[in-house]
Amino acid sequence: MALVRPENQQQARLVRLLRDGPRSRVELGDLLGLSRTTLTTELDQLVARGLVETAGPAASRGGRRSSLLRLSAGVRFASVVIAADRITVAVTDGELNVLAETGEPAEVRSGPEAVIGRAVELVGKLRAESGVAELTGVGVALPGPVDNGTSIAPAVLPGWQRFPVRDAFATELGCPALVDNDANVLALGEQHAGIGRTFEDFLYLKLGTAIGCGLVLGGSLYRGATSSAGDIAHLPLDEDGPTCVCGEIGCLEAYCGDAGLVKAALAAARSGRSTALAARNTAAGTLTVPDVAAAAIAGDPAAQTLVRDTARRLGQVLVGLVSFFNPGIVVIGGAPDGLGHILLAEVRGVVYRRSAPVATGTMPIVLSDLADRAAVVGGARLASDHVFTVD
Ligand SMILES: [Zn+2]
Repeated sequence: MALVRPENQQQARLVRLLRDGPRSRVELGDLLGLSRTTLTTELDQLVARGLVETAGPAASRGGRRSSLLRLSAGVRFASVVIAADRITVAVTDGELNVLAETGEPAEVRSGPEAVIGRAVELVGKLRAESGVAELTGVGVALPGPVDNGTSIAPAVLPGWQRFPVRDAFATELGCPALVDNDANVLALGEQHAGIGRTFEDFLYLKLGTAIGCGLVLGGSLYRGATSSAGDIAHLPLDEDGPTCVCGEIGCLEAYCGDAGLVKAALAAARSGRSTALAARNTAAGTLTVPDVAAAAIAGDPAAQTLVRDTARRLGQVLVGLVSFFNPGIVVIGGAPDGLGHILLAEVRGVVYRRSAPVATGTMPIVLSDLADRAAVVGGARLASDHVFTVD
């Protein structure tokens, strides 16, 4: 396997710049402060090794015409997103544009061998369809904590405890593999292709089945001492609250995760507080988060209270995070369809009312506009950050 990687710091900086799109020689030299001789030497080596190619002449700035350079068609990343009930895989080019993507329902609880085996098959299928002979790297998102390429979440992922996920993908796909939790991967996707692109410091709050937070500080993902930075799901909010999947009482996720919201909705339906949710529960035999969203949007007061309570608690947690980390922006992803803007308005209300103006005066709180694309782009970004770095 020919491992395509930069050989020195200058080459690493050049390929990372080109990851954001084609550049002229003149631009590359200016941005990196490299002499013409050094630039030519390093670019020639990158071209010779198949990492960079000429993309035609650049627009003239007067004088000698400069050629446009880009990452070569030989640079291809794969992205694997393993969710609780679904696998999504994608193949991207060097600029992390998604070239092909596919996915299917999968039960993460069926264990790592089955899930990883199927993900590898799906990547193989995409490679065959899009003519990708070799992968430059693969980035994998897991729906639980990851430390050093190994899954460490027995409660959420039975059978995955201490499973060497990174090594399994690296062996099967014959390329460097990187593994991280989904909130971190989503934050990387926002950093590359979303609104996070223009911020050095931002916070990505992931809602849904599990709640998590990705933290980009000084332009890099911050993982903490044992890779658990941003693991806010089990922050205690109330000692008298609902029981959480972790066994504790009153965790953020027990209130604001999908299961917590549904549990509260069922209670509202059964107690007679919500006629809309009661009718839906009678008809379907259960309730879902989209049911709560539909009832809230239709004006059911109890459903609206549920949504507002959820947002208020998320807002309270964000008040603490924002005052501690002072991010430039907060991006919220994974909000249920139709509920995003209601949640956002309430979260903004709490954060702006309760935070120090110096921390939040110019800090936007927005919904991610990348939706599912953040995860697949983030997986490719994870892999490329590793491959395009020289120790
Ligand atoms: Zn918990």
